[in-house]
Amino acid sequence: MSAQRRSWAEKLCPDAKSALFALFPYDAGPETGNLSRYARGADYHAVAGRALNCFVLQVQPYYPANRFVVLTDDSPLPEAFGACLCGAGRLGDNGLIFDGAHGSFVFIGAVLTDLALPPTPGGRGCLHCGACRRACPTGALGADGTVDPSRCLSALTQQGGELPPAAAAAVAAAPRIWGCDVCSEACPLNRGAAPSPNPAFTENRILSLAPGDLEGLTRRQFQERYPERAFTWRGPAPLRRNLALQQEKEQNDANP
Ligand code: SF4
Ligand code: SF4
Repeated sequence: MSAQRRSWAEKLCPDAKSALFALFPYDAGPETGNLSRYARGADYHAVAGRALNCFVLQVQPYYPANRFVVLTDDSPLPEAFGACLCGAGRLGDNGLIFDGAHGSFVFIGAVLTDLALPPTPGGRGCLHCGACRRACPTGALGADGTVDPSRCLSALTQQGGELPPAAAAAVAAAPRIWGCDVCSEACPLNRGAAPSPNPAFTENRILSLAPGDLEGLTRRQFQERYPERAFTWRGPAPLRRNLALQQEKEQNDANP
């Protein structure tokens, strides 16, 4: 962890000694849709946050002098690496954590604590088969397992404002308007991944959005129409832009 991340962790939990990691399987299957598979069910920030807060409520009475801080996504911890170190799964060359049953279709939540806990064994590596790197449409995956966020469609589709020309061209040709999934779907460790047992992620899903679903909505109206959804945090503007880029490309391809 960088000095900046250590100081962020120290602010959240002074004298932190341990981190607990939990995986939340989210996938319901490979149906077609223009939203990433992670964003089709309930927003994991809310689901994982509630589950981990419930966990803390149960353990806190046994350790009244200790602090437990729940972290979901907005975290100083290197989540995938940490989850790998504690034995929750293996780390892939695409930067994702894989568990034995659900592949990389898992969210990570963490609890940072000043309670000293013994480490659990872990750290199995991925197959290093390179399928994720070969499949990535934008060359965002480095040979050393790093992901370049300026090229990764998962980051670009969520970026606000006007995109630079190269990024706009990549989003226009992307398989999704939010997120990506290409490297996950190419990975052999994800073959036969078991569906999530959590109805928050498998019921009441939204697979795709069309222009009419976003038309005329302010940011607040958008978030009210789709409460607790991971694709709403940036408002409707990036989704509208991504849909427009993809439609324009489709038209240009049809009438060269
Ligand atoms: S596709 Fe191969 S190299 Fe990439 S994460 Fe999966 S097993 Fe590892
Ligand atoms: S999410 Fe998509 S763009 Fe990002 S590294 Fe994976 S395949 Fe490449």
